[in-house]
Amino acid sequence: MPKEKNPLYDHRRRKAQTMLVHGGMERSQYGETSEAIFFNSGFVYPTSEGAEARFDGTEPGHIYSRFSNPTVETFQTRAALLEGAEAARGTASGMAAVTTAVLSQVRAGDHAVAARALFGGCRYVMEDYLPRWGVETTLVDGRDPENFTRAMRPNTKLVFVETPTNPTLDLVDLRAVADIAHAHGAVLVVDNVFATPIWQKPLELGADLVVYSATKHMDGQGRALGGVILGRRELIEGDIHTIIRQTGPSMSPFNAWVLLKSLETLPLRVKAMTDGAARLADFFASHPKIEHISYPFHPSHPQHELARRQMGGGSTLIALTVKGGKEAAFRMADALAIVAISNNLGDAKSIISHPATTTHQRFSDDAKAEMGISAGLLRLSVGLEDPDDLIADFTYALDEA
Ligand SMILES: *Cc1c(COP(=O)(O)O)cnc(C)c1O
Repeated sequence: MPKEKNPLYDHRRRKAQTMLVHGGMERSQYGETSEAIFFNSGFVYPTSEGAEARFDGTEPGHIYSRFSNPTVETFQTRAALLEGAEAARGTASGMAAVTTAVLSQVRAGDHAVAARALFGGCRYVMEDYLPRWGVETTLVDGRDPENFTRAMRPNTKLVFVETPTNPTLDLVDLRAVADIAHAHGAVLVVDNVFATPIWQKPLELGADLVVYSATKHMDGQGRALGGVILGRRELIEGDIHTIIRQTGPSMSPFNAWVLLKSLETLPLRVKAMTDGAARLADFFASHPKIEHISYPFHPSHPQHELARRQMGGGSTLIALTVKGGKEAAFRMADALAIVAISNNLGDAKSIISHPATTTHQRFSDDAKAEMGISAGLLRLSVGLEDPDDLIADFTYALDEA
């Protein structure tokens, strides 16, 4: 029997871990085991007529790596298989993915609604840039879906959310917000970085587009910037493809290669990091120097029931508030021997950050309070170290706090 008749010949019938090892792979004439890198900007044509046919679309093939590239396509195919999306486009960074996805859905005169607890750059795009280009934005508290209903207007074309949110790990009910967006003729774009494609599938819950910073868990080893936009073919291959082709937020083939090799180990890493995070959440929850923790799969999370319904795992991040405000938070972070002070996340190395003085420094005290960013709040991204060592590191550091 030819392997083409084997049901598993179709990648979509395979389990996620298998898709992530093989998806999108097309071997060259050399029969290499690992994916090759096509680290070239342009492509040549056999004849002038061939060039003409490539440009008018009558003959398939690559033209220029700003538009498409074989290594970037392998990454896109693999990411789309994991997400269960019809199509994907890689971008130079997570912010390039967010900006491209947002720009593809709005034009001057439109209105957009976003949950106000957003990654810094995303909030900047929604709050500062869209209004400059004639798109009004309303920011709402995303924890209650009713707030989205109240914010919708006849010209609302876009709803943008992130869940769990940065840095407080609040949740947005994706199914409810997708229904509200669609009832008003708007599209829902979800930044799924904090949940990861392993624990949350926004497209299955009704989202129209999903965006990632591939810099975070996808690379997960602190090397490459990248982003990806996923969704229905007509959205991805329409305006999103054209914006990337004509304005150039394109993914480098080298970064695509690093990221597609990283996808092979993504579920293994995310599961191990999540197991570590769950253990640390229990540790912090009963520590006398911790005032509050936010972890979606911990029973103390106010949206715990939604977390269990919407997510397959509790995230690799924990928000914790140390008693004693900024001074105590700084003393604790400075006493950690393994966990590094940095603003990245989703990395093999555990990382802690103090949002009020770093990523969210520019916000007024009122805006910080609105987003739940107190002086004692720390955001911990749990890495791949042995959880026993991480607990010992925090035991020492909390004594110092
Ligand atoms: C990091 C991040 C981004 C931006 O990604 P870059 O790759 O740094 O451009 C967007 N959204 C969220 C939630 C992030 O964590």
